[in-house]
Amino acid sequence: MQAIEILERLIGFPSVVGTPNHEIVGWIRQYLQLHGIATAEIAGPEGDRSNLFATIGPKETPGYILSGHMDVVPAAEGGWSSDPFCLRAEKDRLYGRGTTDMKGFLAVVLAAVPALAATRLRRPIHLAFSYDEEAGCRGVPHMIARLPELCAHPLGAIIGEPSGMRAIRAHKGKAAARLTIRGRSGHSSRPDQGLNAIHAMAEILACASAEAGRLTQGPFEHVFEPPYSSLQVGTLKGGQAVNIIPDSCEAEFEARAISGIDPAALLTPLRAVAEALAQRGFGSEWRELSAYPALSLAADAPLARLLGELTGIEPLAAVSYGTEAGLFQRAGVDAIICGPGDIARAHRPDEFILASEIQACQSMIEALAGHCTV
Ligand SMILES: [Zn+2]
Repeated sequence: MQAIEILERLIGFPSVVGTPNHEIVGWIRQYLQLHGIATAEIAGPEGDRSNLFATIGPKETPGYILSGHMDVVPAAEGGWSSDPFCLRAEKDRLYGRGTTDMKGFLAVVLAAVPALAATRLRRPIHLAFSYDEEAGCRGVPHMIARLPELCAHPLGAIIGEPSGMRAIRAHKGKAAARLTIRGRSGHSSRPDQGLNAIHAMAEILACASAEAGRLTQGPFEHVFEPPYSSLQVGTLKGGQAVNIIPDSCEAEFEARAISGIDPAALLTPLRAVAEALAQRGFGSEWRELSAYPALSLAADAPLARLLGELTGIEPLAAVSYGTEAGLFQRAGVDAIICGPGDIARAHRPDEFILASEIQACQSMIEALAGHCTV
């Protein structure tokens, strides 16, 4: 099957983040099996979705991981000119949800499988396809945890997120959390008998904005824009009516960290303020929604040099979006981002990829296969 034909099949599965993914996993498994490639399905704790891992070549030898996610963001935003889950070709453009982010990469990798399987690879190429990446890389950690039993420690992981086929060495880490504060309801005329959950949340919000301001003072990592870690309050919900004491308030926070800083730790001061509210009778529940560390690969790392050779372009220092690359790096596997398409087209109506971008990615995979043969 040609890459575009495979892309058409993949786009047809509405594998929206946060939903079961048996259909797309089943199709990819079957395709790989057809070419004699064994697969390992690595289920997550949700019970209805899984990652997929496969190896082409000698698995006892260190090789390279091609990593991508099978989930896509929802396509309910409106503004689509055609069915987002039906690939539409118009001149050089291929439209559909996930064409760029990032089923285009998966399609190229899968299209290369027959040729790779027919090659005597000296080093293996692994396929690591994950679920729920769009919810903050929730699926891939379960696969990374199983790597030691799946293959010899890899030389590197290439994350095929859209980068215009220019490799990228760094991104910030990210953590997101939801805080629910519970107070006691009552008539607003008797504040002495209630516990106002919104007033209590205001203390956390003040802490968040103070911390956000403090982070602008450094530490700095100048490859990023802005060059410092950051945090923000993203959502806030609470209260029923102006004359009722609100008994509940919920807020979501997100932190983005430069390398060397744990993004979840940036939210610790907020959590501490929330926990202190217990002394005044409030209840609080802190739930971590997602977290992944920053990526930072040295310019002279073997993987960075390899990608420079494979693509013919010097890798870029950093990008503002995040990926699972930081998780691979934390597990001791060097990682780099390199995939077809433009991130500016992701998460938007009429998302598309160019046929020429698919070809550029095919060239990179062929060059990688060549590198793994000699
Ligand atoms: Zn993506």
